[in-house]
Amino acid sequence: MNPLWKQQLAGLAEKGKHYLDRWWLQNKDKYQRLLAKPGVVPGVLSVLCLSAALQLTDQWQVVVDDEVVGVTEDRQAIVGYLQELDDCNRKEYESAEMINDLKLARSFGIPAVKTEDMQLVLQDKLEWGIPGAVIAIDNRDVLAFKDLSSAQAVVANIKQKTTERLANLYKTFNVTALNIRENLQVIEKPVAIASLVDEATAETFLLSGQRKEVRHIVSRGETFTRIAASRGIRPSELAEANPGVKATQLQIGQELAVTVPDPLIHVEATAEVTETKTVPFETEYVKDSSLYKGEKKTVTKGQNGIDEVTSVLTLVNGQTVGSEVKTTTRVKEPVTAVVKQGTKVAVVTGSGRFVWPTQGSITSPYGMRWGKMHYGLDIGASRGTAIVAADSGVVVYSGRRGNYGYMVEINHGNGYVTRYGHCSQLLVSKGAKVSRGQLIAKVGSTGYSFGNHLHFEVLYQGVNKNPINFLR
Ligand SMILES: [Zn+2]
Repeated sequence: MNPLWKQQLAGLAEKGKHYLDRWWLQNKDKYQRLLAKPGVVPGVLSVLCLSAALQLTDQWQVVVDDEVVGVTEDRQAIVGYLQELDDCNRKEYESAEMINDLKLARSFGIPAVKTEDMQLVLQDKLEWGIPGAVIAIDNRDVLAFKDLSSAQAVVANIKQKTTERLANLYKTFNVTALNIRENLQVIEKPVAIASLVDEATAETFLLSGQRKEVRHIVSRGETFTRIAASRGIRPSELAEANPGVKATQLQIGQELAVTVPDPLIHVEATAEVTETKTVPFETEYVKDSSLYKGEKKTVTKGQNGIDEVTSVLTLVNGQTVGSEVKTTTRVKEPVTAVVKQGTKVAVVTGSGRFVWPTQGSITSPYGMRWGKMHYGLDIGASRGTAIVAADSGVVVYSGRRGNYGYMVEINHGNGYVTRYGHCSQLLVSKGAKVSRGQLIAKVGSTGYSFGNHLHFEVLYQGVNKNPINFLR
């Protein structure tokens, strides 16, 4: 196809004449007066001479959209340059056409500009266009696209965002209404190539628009991060908008500047969503005299229930702005936990009679051993074997202590103290009241120990005694 501008140039001779004629109409009086002066060649003849002179000049006015943008002496170079621009645009868009009205008209008397300067002017003034499409909002063209389907895809994608957002959040949802608040139209019309946008850019632009600044008053419990999240911006953006404000020192009632997106379009949607919600179980405590005070035993394990909640959501551009519960259906009832609470009060004062603190055989007696005094009685037992209090009393130590490893020390309130060393696990804590025979720890090999055993000590008035003399 012959580009439009070539057709324009083809009719040049005629247009040149037109411009010349117009120039002549505007200026002939002045020239005729000049020529008509006595001693000068008679007027009619002079006009003829002028016309002849005009034919000899090779200067061309370059006229873009009825504006003379310059004069050139090298018509060929300008035509060649136009061809170059045209090829360049057609390489990208086959149907590209120059959209300006371009004319070359014979000129004279106006100084010509350099060809390079003329080319720069043309590059700036001329535009190529294609048969494309626009998105118009409230009858104003906002974005230009290469074709109708791109423009339509952008609108469809923006609408789709609501569905995507819901699909991310809910297993079951049903969009009952989806409308664009603005009057949005997709229109097929010629557009300038320079104004074209791709689909992703268009979407961002329509949904973000120009950002606008609003004020935010800090209310109780609000943090910097929470304010940013509630406004749909990053904490760093909030910080940037509020230089000098310390994020950790927000005051209730303080005013913050918040720059929020100001979308060009608002997709309003209503959707019915169904989600399951956990119903936490309750715990019932039952007093039990067979357990010591402070002891607890779970009889029935609690189980959370499940509610199925259907709500009606209102969304704008995929963000939930309203929610109303429609129905709640109990799918699973929670199971109440039942926990026994001990009431038995431990006897604090010991009886002076000791039971064997663990089941096992004596591996090392009380007395001199390897030239050193062994203050305890070692009872060999496998790891995890129960250790019980030899008599009732109060736990005065429960923890790690040097060579003992994990140990428990019980004061029986009658001058006697017992110690239980090398434990693998401690089951009572300092201050606990224990009864004779009550489980307090488990056999192990912690501290200075070779193999699992219980190192058991008995002290009276702070002096170690041979434990074997107290065990029955
Ligand atoms: Zn020992």
